[in-house]
Formats: sequence, structure tokens, C-alpha cells
Amino acid sequence: MIPQYASALLISDLHLTPSMPLTAQRFFDFCEKEAPKVEAVFILGDLFEYWVGDDAAASSPFQQEVQRTIANLSTKVKTYYLHGNRDFLIGKSFIKKTGMTLLSDPSTVEIASQSWVLAHGDALCTADIGYQAFRHWVRKPWIQKIFLGLPLNWRKAIAQHLRSNSHSQYQAQQRPRSHQVKMDVTQQACASVIKDQSGNRLIHGHTHLPAHHEESLGAQNWQRWVLSDWDLDHPESLPPRASALLIDSAGARYLDLIKS
Ligand code: MN
Repeated sequence: MIPQYASALLISDLHLTPSMPLTAQRFFDFCEKEAPKVEAVFILGDLFEYWVGDDAAASSPFQQEVQRTIANLSTKVKTYYLHGNRDFLIGKSFIKKTGMTLLSDPSTVEIASQSWVLAHGDALCTADIGYQAFRHWVRKPWIQKIFLGLPLNWRKAIAQHLRSNSHSQYQAQQRPRSHQVKMDVTQQACASVIKDQSGNRLIHGHTHLPAHHEESLGAQNWQRWVLSDWDLDHPESLPPRASALLIDSAGARYLDLIKS
């Protein structure tokens, strides 16, 4: 049964961390102000900068605050979450405490009487062969079990190491041109997911390249909406940005959360 809603807000790539307090505050405000006005809120991955296990949240006041905020929102509207490449270790315990429903990647939902295919986006970046090999392994349950069995400070050290490798790649403005193709989704991967899900409207995040595209490959046509990342904490190097995709009977459009 495909979930159906008359209106929804979709966000991704907030990369929440205590070291980005303005970004976190905008998310808390979003949960109070904009989010309760629609029927459903979808978080399409990378809500957190990193996640090393639900047990770590218990000792983090910041993660507790995010948890409480989402749990409060879940009493007002339906909330969904889909794993990103940073927080794919978010487990059943955190999901349950926030009142969200976990979606598999990709998933299809119906919003405003139209079908939408939802994905984080990292699995669509098939030109990045190294990353796809990494993803293949880290998504294996037995690998995750071994990782989650390590002491918390080991897990944090590993996460820190992985982040320092990938961080600069996803700052779109600083990306060398040769890197851009590798760090973006491929048309082949989009066409394939569109076909498997029998939809022709795709929404994803991950690439930090927010835009609406009309695309085609062979006989297939689809629209692709890319969600923005959020960052209000580095105005000296990057323009502040935060937006959500709003879908209702008037169609789909971006809601700028910096100006509003
Ligand atoms: Mn991502």
C-alpha cells in the first residue's frame, strides 16, 4: 500500500552536528513553524553529519534534542526517514523514539495525487565506482554488526576518518570540474530506478546541487528534483542555504528557509 498525502515537505542533507548551531536551530524552527502545516514530512537522509550507533545518542545532549524535536513533530504530522550515506547506521531504536517511519531507498509515495520516487541519491552516483564498492560493503548487515560492536570511541575515530576523506568532495562550489561528473547522479541510474519504481518523478538529495530537471534517456522521460543541503554556519566561505521541497495541489516548488 503506497502512502498517500495531500501535501508534504521534503528535506535532506542537513548534516546536523553540535558544531553547526545555526543550522540546527533552523531545523528546530522548521519543525515548529513550516513542518506542521503539511500532512507529511520526509527526511531523505543525511539528517546527521555522522551516526555511529543509536547507543551513542543516549550520551549526546544534541542528539537527544533532535530526537525530542522530531518526536514532538511526529505527534502533529506523519514523519518519514530514509537513510543517507552519513547516517545509514540510524537504527530501529532511534526511529522508534522519534516516531518516524523508516522508508527503504528507493520508495514510492503519493503526494497531491501524483507518484513520487524518493531516494537519498548516493546509490545513483554510479560513476563513482570506488564509493559504490564502499557502499556495497558498509550496507551489509554483518559488517554493520561488527562495527556497532566496537567501543564507541573507536567508532567515532573511524567515522571522523571517513568524514575527513569525503567532506571536501561535497562542497559543490569547491569541486573541480573533473570531479563534478563523478559526484553527480548518472542518467542511467535514474532511468533504472524510475523504471523499477514505475514512476516518472524522482526526488533525491546527496549531491548538494538543488535544481529541477526534465530528463530523458531512450524512450523514458522523467522529472528530477534535487534537494538542497543546509548550512547557515559558514557564511565566510559559503552562502547560507536551507530549503525544503513543498508539494501540494499547487504543484512542487522549493521553499527558501533562509529568506522566510
Ligand atoms: Mn549524502
